[in-house]
Amino acid sequence: MKSHSLQLNHQDQGYWFVVNRGKLKLTAESLSIPFGAWQQQQINDPEMICHIGEWQQQPCYLVVSNDQQQADEWYSARTLLEKTEPVWFELAARACQLALFLQSHRYCGQCGNKMQLVSWELAMLCHKCGHRCYPRISPCVLVAIKKDQQILLARSKRHKPGFFSILAGFVESGETLEQAAAREVYEEVGVRIQNLRYVGSQPWPFPHSLMAGFLADYQSGDIVCQEDEIEEAGWFHFDDLPEIPPIQTLSGRMIRQLQHETSTAA
Ligand SMILES: [Zn+2]
Repeated sequence: MKSHSLQLNHQDQGYWFVVNRGKLKLTAESLSIPFGAWQQQQINDPEMICHIGEWQQQPCYLVVSNDQQQADEWYSARTLLEKTEPVWFELAARACQLALFLQSHRYCGQCGNKMQLVSWELAMLCHKCGHRCYPRISPCVLVAIKKDQQILLARSKRHKPGFFSILAGFVESGETLEQAAAREVYEEVGVRIQNLRYVGSQPWPFPHSLMAGFLADYQSGDIVCQEDEIEEAGWFHFDDLPEIPPIQTLSGRMIRQLQHETSTAA
């Protein structure tokens, strides 16, 4: 997508995705993305401004800010996931990932020269050695494993007690998504899976993941939790699930989908 650093006029109007160290500026009243003229936004000394898309015929701008003021106005993109229509989280995910990309590619990783934003595509280019970088996207697999009327759920050290989700892991270099799913499940809980089927995907800007979801059937093995990674894991009956992720997340949607399929098949 076309994107470039802009000089704005005071009256330029649009949606403003102002990102400051991974956090977004939201309106105080409704916790939504600010809309209006540039001059109303009161952003002190923005580092970079890019056009990142359109929503309902209005331009969407990313403003990279280093403003240290008004800490109470900055929110995680997750706030939008749970409070608004999906489109706002999707746009915010894009803005946050691009902001991180721009801020972490000021200098060339190959020769150390200053990099510049390319005018016709979203990339940073070193004019000295020709090294070109695109925004980083880290593919990650989510696997929901079913055994009869049960689902395998686990709690990592990052989760609070009582909260469980499906297994997740990053894809390694040279690996297919399917290989990553089988490997991650075996590494994390010692279980073999079969009948892998793709469900869908979700960009996850913490900081630049792309979640790819799979359903699978249990094949063999007893649960053995990977040390340092999985705090506890077990088979949960669909009628008696613990606290799980919200439906707006891909993992939350997959657990409910499997629950629904199992109850209608029974
Ligand atoms: Zn270079």
